[in-house]
Amino acid sequence: MSGCRYDRVVLMGFEWYEPSTISFLERIVPEVLHIPAVFGQNLPLPSHAFNTLRKQYLASAFLEELLFYKQRPKDILLGVTGVDLFEPNLNFVFGLAVPYGVAVISTVRLHNEFYGLPKDEKLYLKRVATEAIHEIGHTLGLGHCSDPHCVMHFSNSLADTDKKGYRFCPKCWSKAKQVLCIGDSSQ
Ligand SMILES: [Zn+2]
Ligand SMILES: [Zn+2]
Repeated sequence: MSGCRYDRVVLMGFEWYEPSTISFLERIVPEVLHIPAVFGQNLPLPSHAFNTLRKQYLASAFLEELLFYKQRPKDILLGVTGVDLFEPNLNFVFGLAVPYGVAVISTVRLHNEFYGLPKDEKLYLKRVATEAIHEIGHTLGLGHCSDPHCVMHFSNSLADTDKKGYRFCPKCWSKAKQVLCIGDSSQ
């Protein structure tokens, strides 16, 4: 994997639009990835993805939807939703990505209030950034990293998410920037 493959992140809402979270992502994603981030559009929830028994949505259905809306090959589409996501054999997922420039995250389990704890907006935004960059990392082709402070470390729980933060370790960053169209990288 090398060469300029992605030059922009487009944020896509799934019946989700939080101006403060969007402006935060528009600022933090370029700071970490060195490519711009913009808001694209708000889409309806994929109703066929709702599991009535689990009261959750199948995450992979959101990725299919995003692939349909992905028009510029060099765009990474990051879907954001406030509904709970799952994948077969998992109770829930914070997010999901495939290595074709599409990823999705759910904000529902990133709020302290979900666990009956007091609201903490700053912590919530940090978690959103961590999950967003982690899933974008997967869509760039990165796997999980053994460094517990690297954003690509696997999160078993929100405690792991809070510990690792949203920065790449030097090893993962050197892999990520091979496929990002950053400044002087010619092509
Ligand atoms: Zn992961
Ligand atoms: Zn790493």
